Amino acid sequence: MNTGLQLYNTLTRKKELFEPLNAPHVGMYVCGPTVYSDVHLGNCRTFISFDLIFRYLKYSGYKVRYVRNITDAGHLEGDRDEGDDKFAKRAKLEELEPMEIVQKYTLGFHDVLRMFNTLPPSIEPTATGHIIEQIEMIKEIMNNGYAYESNGTIYFDVEKYSETYNYTILTNRNLEDMLANTRELGGQNEKRGRLDFALWIKAKPETLMRWASPWGEGFPGWHIECSAMSAKYLGAEFDIHGGGMDLAATHHTNEIAQSEACSHKQPAKYWMHTNMLTVNGTRMSKSAGNGFLPEQLFAGDHDLLEKGFSPMTVKFFMLQAHYRSTLDFSNEALDASEKGFKRLMNALSLLVKLTPSESSDFEITPIADNCVKAMNDDFNSPVVIAELFEASRIINTVYDGKGKISAAELAKLKQLMQDFVYDIFGLKDEETSNIALNSVLDMVIDLRQAAKENKDYATSDKIRLGLQSMGIQLKDSKDGTTWNKA
Ligand code: AMP
Ligand code: ZN
Repeated sequence: MNTGLQLYNTLTRKKELFEPLNAPHVGMYVCGPTVYSDVHLGNCRTFISFDLIFRYLKYSGYKVRYVRNITDAGHLEGDRDEGDDKFAKRAKLEELEPMEIVQKYTLGFHDVLRMFNTLPPSIEPTATGHIIEQIEMIKEIMNNGYAYESNGTIYFDVEKYSETYNYTILTNRNLEDMLANTRELGGQNEKRGRLDFALWIKAKPETLMRWASPWGEGFPGWHIECSAMSAKYLGAEFDIHGGGMDLAATHHTNEIAQSEACSHKQPAKYWMHTNMLTVNGTRMSKSAGNGFLPEQLFAGDHDLLEKGFSPMTVKFFMLQAHYRSTLDFSNEALDASEKGFKRLMNALSLLVKLTPSESSDFEITPIADNCVKAMNDDFNSPVVIAELFEASRIINTVYDGKGKISAAELAKLKQLMQDFVYDIFGLKDEETSNIALNSVLDMVIDLRQAAKENKDYATSDKIRLGLQSMGIQLKDSKDGTTWNKA
């Protein structure tokens, strides 16, 4: 097991040696998407970054339970108990049931992450599936004296909590300043303190998503779901808690407060935050209107885009930045990533064709060591990419007959590329997977043609309908059969 991993802990504001509470087991919780609309490319950056972390922990020999939730209730438009319910608003707009909205955008989220070749989490719990756990947790917080009821809504008492705990531990802000600068927000006349936040919100007559509780019908506040679900699946104390940097100040701050007020324990040993994807220096977000969808990026279908870029190019572009640095979107940067990714894939296609020599002009171990060293230094993927380009240069040199590599070094080179390109970065060659798909389809179309010629229409229809259900439409003409994606 790799025991030299250092990671940056937002809680202590420094890099620390990663020492799991119960090695080789690692518990990791990442705040997932609010599924009231499509995920934009910024959201994807955060989930791709945690996929890299998940993959590297597994590669390092840890047995990781990775929990990434789906927020499907309780998230109001403002992050602080104000504004409309995002799901209800969207449901009205699209003339659907709120749970139809949830289903539609959850499926869309999974489709997008599959295109980026990310691994599914070990558990993907939903807020609506854990109402009982949330109610139980709120009861416990109230029993411990850190929450109060006001007109059917339950608020967390930040002032009371701050007598014992540090409410601003994650961001190191000054509590007095926060109190002075907090503007009037939702439910202010019901709250004791300005920073108090809702754990349970009383349903209004028009509220669509509502559940029975000891305090009447209502719905959970946004933050309590993550405290309840992380405790349920990872325990009151676990290893890593992550999310985008924008979550630290409110959502994660409140999560820590809730968990401590319930179990008297700091829930996560390491808090990790990914930096933002920006467009012309402004954070990509749904509300700023600068958030384009991954599909638009792939198709080149957006005013900001000069052309389309493939999912793996986009992923490569993201991996070329460290997860804690901001990453600014630009056509030029993506163009450069496209070239770089092609160069890497081209080298990989040549790697299988290399023949070993008796002696070697190259040593692979230092490159492999540098890759591990970079990943052990808080997951420094850009440094790994520079090493992979060095490995690609070696492949090209040997292929061109300008250098020799021994069988032992060649085996190490193959292992290096397998580990870092495929297993840890989760990249794949889109050209070859398309070539494979094309050849399989050609074969299936031939089989259908043969069935038709034998008047076996049952089989030919089965093939056509089967392909249709996979989103592939066949078109017959006098020149033969062609296909396209429906
Ligand atoms: P949401 O669906 O808005 O709850 O966001 C899902 C995740 O995406 C959260 O972890 C956010 O912090 C993260 N996120 C939102 N905007 C960006 C961005 N522009 N760049 C990177 N991550 C983001
Ligand atoms: Zn969360």
